[in-house]
Amino acid sequence: MLAAVLRGPEQLDITEIATPEPGEGEILLKVGANTVCGTDLRILRGEKTAGVRPGVVLGHEIAGTIAAVGKGVHGYQLGDPAVVTPAVSCGTCFYCLRDMEQLCASTDILGYNLDGGLAEYCLIPKHAVDRRHISVAKPGTPMTALSLSEPLSCVLNGLANYKAGLGDTVVIIGAGPIGLLHMTVCRLAGATQVIVSDLSESRRATASLLGADITVDSVKDDLEAVVKQATNGHGADVVVIAIGRPELLAQAISLVRKGGRVCAFAGFPKGSSAAIDPNTIHYGEILLVGAANAKRRQTAEALRLIEDGLIPAETIVSHTFALQQATRAIEFSASGEGIKIAVVP
Ligand SMILES: [Zn+2]
Ligand SMILES: [Zn+2]
Repeated sequence: MLAAVLRGPEQLDITEIATPEPGEGEILLKVGANTVCGTDLRILRGEKTAGVRPGVVLGHEIAGTIAAVGKGVHGYQLGDPAVVTPAVSCGTCFYCLRDMEQLCASTDILGYNLDGGLAEYCLIPKHAVDRRHISVAKPGTPMTALSLSEPLSCVLNGLANYKAGLGDTVVIIGAGPIGLLHMTVCRLAGATQVIVSDLSESRRATASLLGADITVDSVKDDLEAVVKQATNGHGADVVVIAIGRPELLAQAISLVRKGGRVCAFAGFPKGSSAAIDPNTIHYGEILLVGAANAKRRQTAEALRLIEDGLIPAETIVSHTFALQQATRAIEFSASGEGIKIAVVP
């Protein structure tokens, strides 16, 4: 089969490798779509190396159909559409036992150290099948929409931490695919005013199309003044950072009201540091949260939202590339021209 194999920084080989055969307890997925994200780019550039195994098949936003099942697999039928929760938690560590499996101390991750979805087929190993890291979808939803279940599950994990709710004003810094998904789920959670900031005019236009109340040019406009004006001078209830630039942390804190929540959702370059005035946290009682990965149940929640048409997947997945062009797909996703890029074998 054709697969995108990571040899090292800047070395992604699109090459033929043996098609895996599912052993006992394993499932073989025929990949229908694999969307690429900023993490793939960081891995390709060598900016993210922790937990990444050279020789791995890249891709962790995986949707496909079940092509073969190994002995002893129950509950899955050949031809079922399915999506994957790629971070396979252990189920027994300190975090797993406290309902924080997304923070598991010994995860295996498809597309990092287990072969991922930028291939014609993807093997789901036994421990992932046993722990139900593969979720069956209803038939009829396009594969490119289903593959959004992974980033969407991570966004739902963020929402659970920053708790946007009824009547809230939310500021989202960055109108890429992740920012647009945050906007969509904040709306579904009852936020009544969403302000989106980005430097790209086309991304701001997409944010407006998808329901942003106010869009702000992050280079030319004064975001703080806009937010203050839109909130009677108080500041936003929630600010989500969806771009991995460390200086945005101080900006986000300046935008939130007293008692508000700031979410550092994006991953930052390795070794980053950010300067903030700690008294703004102290006197303002500001809650600072992070979010990375997702729980299996958030994959299930994401899937229901996508199947019910509540996520504008057709707008968010703006471009499709063939597997042969996987490197270009990852690079294009960084160009800011499209929104979410899908690779379809
Ligand atoms: Zn991703
Ligand atoms: Zn664990």
